[in-house]
Amino acid sequence: VADYKDGAWQIPEIMPYGNMSLSPATSALHYGQAIFEGMKAYKSAEGDILLFRPLDNLKRLNISADRMCIPELPEEIFMQGLEQLLRLDAAWVPPTAGCALYIRPFIFATDDFIGVRPSSNYRFVVFSCPVGAYYGQPLRVAIEPNYVRSAEGGAGYAKAAGNYGAALYPARKMQERGYHQLIWTDAREHKYIEESGTMNVMFVIDGKLVTPAVSTTILSGITRASVLQIARDKGIPVEERKVAVSEIVEAHKAGKLREAFGTGTAATIAQIATIHCNGEDLDLPALEGREISNSIAAELDRIKTGQATDLHNWIYK
Ligand code: PMP
Repeated sequence: VADYKDGAWQIPEIMPYGNMSLSPATSALHYGQAIFEGMKAYKSAEGDILLFRPLDNLKRLNISADRMCIPELPEEIFMQGLEQLLRLDAAWVPPTAGCALYIRPFIFATDDFIGVRPSSNYRFVVFSCPVGAYYGQPLRVAIEPNYVRSAEGGAGYAKAAGNYGAALYPARKMQERGYHQLIWTDAREHKYIEESGTMNVMFVIDGKLVTPAVSTTILSGITRASVLQIARDKGIPVEERKVAVSEIVEAHKAGKLREAFGTGTAATIAQIATIHCNGEDLDLPALEGREISNSIAAELDRIKTGQATDLHNWIYK
C-alpha cells in the first residue's frame, strides 16, 4: 500500500491482507475516481517467479490515471510494491500448468470530502491470489445491439472502475438469454465490433488473424498485443482494422470464419464456440481444428512460464 498525500507518493508498505478503514465520504466511492490493473505471475520449472510485461501494465495504469485526474504513479513505487508483495507471496504462485498468481494493483481517491472535484489524496494498493483457468468452457457470446460500453470522447480506453459497473446490466441481460459474454459494438451505429467485457476479441478469417484496431473506445490489451506479436513472429498475416458485424456474418456464411477467441490476462485465450448475431446463433468449427489460436496460446503459455525464448523481453524475474 502506498498513499499519495501532500502532492507526493509515499514509500509503499506491506500490510496483512484485511479490511481497510475508510470514511463514508471517501471520494472514490461517490465520484468513481478508481482505476485498476490485472496481472499474473507464473512459476518457472526452476522455481523462479516470472511477471509478464509489468511495465506495460504500469504504462496503461498511468494512461487510466491521466484520464481520471489521478496523479501518475512512478515506476519505483509500482515495482517496489510488486517486488515486496511477490517476495512474501512466492509460495502462493501455483506451479501447475494453467494456474498463476493473479495480481490486482489499483488506485482510488481517498479525500474525505463530498463535492465533485479531483481528490487531493489517493491510495495505491496491490494484492494477489492464486487462480486457475478463468473460463472452463468455450464461450457462447452475443453481439450487443443496444447498449454501449464506450463512446468516442469517453473513458473506454481507461481501465476505470466505472466502465465495469456500467457494463454489468447489459452483461446480465445477455447471461439471462444464455450467453456467457457479450461483444460490444461501436456507440454510433452498432455496426463495428469493439471488444468483450474483459477481453479483446480476434477472428481467423480466410487464414488471417483479424482484430479491431486499438482506439479510444477499447482497452488496449496486453494479451492482445502479445498475441499479435507472436502471430507476426510465426508469419501469420495480421490485420488490425475496423471489423464490421456484417463481415463476421458473411465470413461465417462463406465458411471462412474458422476461429474466434477472446484475449485477456485473466482469460488468457478463451475460445468462442458460438456468436449470436441478428437473432441467429453462428456456430464455429470445433476447437481441435483451430490451429492458429491453439499454436499462439501454446507459445504464449511457454513464454509466460519460461519454457520458450523470451524474444521481446516480456519476462521480468
Ligand atoms: N478489455 C477489457 C474491457 C478488459 O477488462 C481486459 C482485461 N484487462 C482486456 C480487454 C484485456 O486486457 P489484458 O490483455 O491487458 O488483460
